[in-house]
Amino acid sequence: MTKTVKREKISVNGIVQGVGFRPFIHNLAKKYHLAGFVANTSTGVEIEIEGSKGSLNQFIKEVKINAPPLSVITDIQSEFIKPLLDDDFIIKPSDARVSVATLISPDVAICEDCYRELFDPQDRRYLYPFINCTNCGPRYTIIENIPYDRPYTSMKSFVMCPDCQAEYDDPSNRRFHAQPNACPVCGPQVSLHDATGQKLDSSDPVSKTADLLKSGKILAIKGLGGFHLAVDTANEEAVMELRKRKGREEKPLAIMVKDMKIAKTICNLMKDEEQILASFQHPIVLAYKKRDHGIAHSVAPGNDRFGIMLPYTPLHHILMSFDFHALVMTSANYSEEPICIENEEVFERLGNIADYFLTHNRDIYLRSDDSVVIHLNREMRQIRRSRGYVPKPVFVSSKGAPILAVGGELKNTICLLKDDKAFLSQHIGDLENLEAYNFFKMTVNHLERIFETKPELIVYDLHPSYLSTQWAKEQTDVPTFGVQHHHAHLTACMAENKLENPVIGLIMDGTGYGTDGTIWGGEVLVGDFSEFTRYAYFEPMLLPGGDAAIKAPWRTAVSYLLKSFDGELPDLPFLEQHNVEPIVEMVTKQFNCQSTTSCGRLFDAVAAMSGGKQEIHYEAQAAIEFMQVASQLDINPFDVEISTSNENIIMCVVPIIRSVVKSILDGESISKIGGRFHKTLIDLFTKIVKEAYQTTGIRDVVLSGGVFQNHLLFEGIIPVLLSEGFNVYTHSQVPTNDGGLSLGQAMLGRHYLQK
Ligand code: ZN
Ligand code: ZN
Ligand code: FE
Repeated sequence: MTKTVKREKISVNGIVQGVGFRPFIHNLAKKYHLAGFVANTSTGVEIEIEGSKGSLNQFIKEVKINAPPLSVITDIQSEFIKPLLDDDFIIKPSDARVSVATLISPDVAICEDCYRELFDPQDRRYLYPFINCTNCGPRYTIIENIPYDRPYTSMKSFVMCPDCQAEYDDPSNRRFHAQPNACPVCGPQVSLHDATGQKLDSSDPVSKTADLLKSGKILAIKGLGGFHLAVDTANEEAVMELRKRKGREEKPLAIMVKDMKIAKTICNLMKDEEQILASFQHPIVLAYKKRDHGIAHSVAPGNDRFGIMLPYTPLHHILMSFDFHALVMTSANYSEEPICIENEEVFERLGNIADYFLTHNRDIYLRSDDSVVIHLNREMRQIRRSRGYVPKPVFVSSKGAPILAVGGELKNTICLLKDDKAFLSQHIGDLENLEAYNFFKMTVNHLERIFETKPELIVYDLHPSYLSTQWAKEQTDVPTFGVQHHHAHLTACMAENKLENPVIGLIMDGTGYGTDGTIWGGEVLVGDFSEFTRYAYFEPMLLPGGDAAIKAPWRTAVSYLLKSFDGELPDLPFLEQHNVEPIVEMVTKQFNCQSTTSCGRLFDAVAAMSGGKQEIHYEAQAAIEFMQVASQLDINPFDVEISTSNENIIMCVVPIIRSVVKSILDGESISKIGGRFHKTLIDLFTKIVKEAYQTTGIRDVVLSGGVFQNHLLFEGIIPVLLSEGFNVYTHSQVPTNDGGLSLGQAMLGRHYLQK
């Protein structure tokens, strides 16, 4: 007599399709001698298993522990049902008519198994640049529609050869249902082109590419989410030439390093940084430079970190195996335009930058830049959340109608909020050129399509001139809702930390449109998902010429000095370099000036007047370099003052500027002034948060806004607030800069609809 047979029905939700989940279940069922089936459903995967009670329990336990690396299980439900006495375990084919509202995997760096095969001369995919399996390869960037099946990806134009098809059909094979499965016989191929797009005859385009790079040429190389521009990091001249042609004067360039061993000779790596470099996302990590790194100076001038990443496609690995330690691998575009993805497009747009093109015929449907992360205060933080992370959702603690939030202007991302999942888009970029705007519109369409969602509300930033705002207002078929920029920063941080109750928000930012029509940016807000009050803010100052002042911090400095010294300019060395008269006139007559409470501009002003960067080549450059030269924080701060007028609580700027000027005149170094300034802000913010607590009784503090990418400030203030008894919440899943804004906007929209 056999043991009692039990049958259990198990529903698994999360990222469980297109990640090798069904073969995993199949093999597991075989291991425990269970009968039944596994099938994809509209919400995930359904399993029925039959066998002894002990085996069923073991099976479920192992599903939770050993699920494939790319899967994310959000929920497992099971119930016992009547046994059917099946005699085998099968994978049921997907029903094409079922609408698949499941989660789509991000693009994944090559796995260890594929890497081994890639360099195995006996393997049929030896040195084949498109090797992949169910655990690795392209996903999000090649999906045109759902369900995630080959005919709906850019692999549809490649018909699998019998060998590949056999792997694809075999549940025990590690390429079972790997949609991009391919080999040299049937799959995509690389080709080399000159600057005009003319294809070059070459039996080995990758080795030729390596030769060209070694001779100092600039190559555009097609990757996973777009083209990179590559040069040899050992060649100072080539790096300078790339900067010149790309119009990127000083902003650090990312580098791809051959392997972890070499990465450790270039940067000082902490354990967390090593782990994330090698993770399946393979982001760019901003890590401290080593002294003798051997990388050309012009790769990251004036910066104490490199942006490094490891090779993540088979093509990268093959290229690096030609004895490169590191290559510059920067997004292929002109500064601030979106990354190029199409062959025709790239020849046209980059013909003046690249000498040659190494491209291939697997189309990229959706561009996705490399993600950028940094280790701050014991955690990895997102600076740019894109390839490898998108479209994995951020889980939030509420459910409701679908919402589309369109983000801000710079570092734009959009967010589609569906049930408890916030799908943030890849990094779209700065919406100030047509390419970026078109990419923005395309991404909106794409997300709505692959997640089968029609939003019931569109949320936008209050700034009337943002292109995202203008687009939202043109959508007449869906209701729209405008939200304040810094309120959205606050709720973005609340959402990813699953907070519900009102918080004190320390929102330190560059620019955001205020409810009074002026530019805000140094805000202490008290609020939640439904409302906020502006508890305190920096003393309003004038920005002469608006954006022109942002690009030339010395102008901001002149304005802040005029205000602090009753219309006079103290005799400071930095003023000698500039024609200050027009600026003085502008500020005195308040002509073409914007009023701002920005924290970013305060940094600019103090940095410039102390002798730091006078004009910048990339966003926040003056503040970043000021932070890098600043001394440690065990130093005397400047005087801080908080004043109250007409019920407004003001964090005074004038006393800070006066103290800074006194230090400069006393001959203090920029390093010391920098240290004192950072310490001053920490004292000021702590003081204001304590006052806010006295008024509100709130102990939960969220930190958000672009200024908190400043590690001296960020890592300095957290322990102080904690020691004062506050609960401090920060960003880790989405950027603290405007890249995370759309998450907060979407959550504000949800609560607005619910009201
Ligand atoms: Zn693989
Ligand atoms: Zn094949
Ligand atoms: Fe912002």
